[in-house]
Amino acid sequence: MPRPPARVFAEIATADPPRGPRTVMGRAVVLGASIAGMLAARGLADHAEEVLLVDPDGDPTGPEPRPGVPQGGQVHALLPAGQVQLERWFPGITATAIREGAVPPDPATVELWVNGRLRPLPATPQDEPTLVTTRPFLENLVRRATTAVPGIRVVAGRAEGLVFDGARVSGARVRVGDEVVTEPADLVVDATGRSSRLAEWLGQGGHPRPTWQRMPIRLNYASALFERDPAISDAGVVIATSDADDGRVARQAGIQAVENDRWIVLVAGYGDDRPTRDPADFRERCSRDFPAAFGDIATGARMIGDVVTYHQADSRRRDTASLRQLPAGIIPIGDAIASFNPVYGQGMTSAALHASCLSAYLRSAPSLAEPARGYLDDVQVVVDAAWSISTLADLRLPHVDGPYPRGYPVASWFGRRLQAASFTDPELNRRLSAVTMMHEHPSVLARPGTVARVLRGERGRPVG
Ligand SMILES: Cc1cc2nc3c(=O)[nH]c(=O)nc-3n(C[C@H](O)[C@H](O)[C@H](O)COP(=O)(O)OP(=O)(O)OC[C@H]3O[C@@H](n4cnc5c(N)ncnc54)[C@H](O)[C@@H]3O)c2cc1C
Repeated sequence: MPRPPARVFAEIATADPPRGPRTVMGRAVVLGASIAGMLAARGLADHAEEVLLVDPDGDPTGPEPRPGVPQGGQVHALLPAGQVQLERWFPGITATAIREGAVPPDPATVELWVNGRLRPLPATPQDEPTLVTTRPFLENLVRRATTAVPGIRVVAGRAEGLVFDGARVSGARVRVGDEVVTEPADLVVDATGRSSRLAEWLGQGGHPRPTWQRMPIRLNYASALFERDPAISDAGVVIATSDADDGRVARQAGIQAVENDRWIVLVAGYGDDRPTRDPADFRERCSRDFPAAFGDIATGARMIGDVVTYHQADSRRRDTASLRQLPAGIIPIGDAIASFNPVYGQGMTSAALHASCLSAYLRSAPSLAEPARGYLDDVQVVVDAAWSISTLADLRLPHVDGPYPRGYPVASWFGRRLQAASFTDPELNRRLSAVTMMHEHPSVLARPGTVARVLRGERGRPVG
């Protein structure tokens, strides 16, 4: 009997340390050395004699933005479930980050605004500092931890295709300088992000091409760094979100206090609501559209560098049916399997949970001569979880017209009621947050106790 998704998710999202190495292969090749690729490599290192990470950007030494991650200049929030996975694979990484300048926000300086109302924050254990950093800082931290693991090596190269041995993938073709070399592998991991060419590469080998399911969100991001000054604001983490109901314009914004005494500030809109690189436009949006802290910082603090913009046309996930046709020897991970509207902050945490799926699969001592069904089944549970949360919200955007999931009208109605009830019911707030922070699978919200509590609109009285 298939395991219920909530149970699979709980096993994947575990904080338990991985249970010791168990070698099942000689060599793994991971294409793409970003968050997904590095976490995959860390998990693989327990099961392979050698793990080769391939990335055109090689092994950058400093915490700088880099060409292979063009979104790296934008606000990047790591959800708590992602932090749990980072600690699981690299014990002590949060403490290292804080030693090196990451700012664990004082809960008193954290605010979440929804449609202009301040939403109470669910209680979190005081002894668990939150990791809040810029994306290059986090990536550098993870890179140093990954490359310190015995057996993992990084080469500067660009994957150009796969190598096939009969029905299975047996390596990758990699351009290193002027040369194209073959990197043989027992398992190839595609961690090349949203622009993955996996479909094209599989097609070249005569295999079915995995297709994307897309939701056109037309999201526009702009972020800028500012010198942090307590005389201007004490903001630690501030998130402001408004939906398009009741005549409002759907917009998002965020402030994070980050390393090196800076704030990174984000403003985002949809469709033709497009923040530009003009600092005056950025300041005006902060002051006009969002709570006071945004205007205070944007107009009062010194901007460091330029406003950087990013447009994301769609959320996308690989079609489940086409993933079931993947040959042996290859798996996609991270954004190469699904990427979502980034305002929900799910990307890096999803990548970490995919790496946990990979580790669980390898621990089951699979035959690598067969397609990696065990991995793909578990990873679908993680993708479904993130997709259902982000697209349920995005289907309320006026310019988004599908694809609608089965049961959408009921799910949408229930989601709104749950959201409203969570403002006044701390227990519902906690349960909803556990799902949006990716600690738990969304199906837990359909448990009778939670449904009853939402429908009765009760406050405080324990029902479920
Ligand atoms: C604007 C924006 C904001 C975001 N904000 C958040 C956030 O707040 N929180 C969050 O969790 N996530 C966020 N994300 C998502 C997050 O960036 C990704 O989900 C995350 O980086 C995991 O991606 P990845 O490792 O799969 O791919 P990426 O990080 O995109 O990396 C892909 C890697 O593949 C390499 N590569 C590309 N082509 C090749 C090739 N041919 N051969 C070898 N290597 C190759 C690249 O150099 C790069 O290193 C945001 C995304 C965007 C676009």
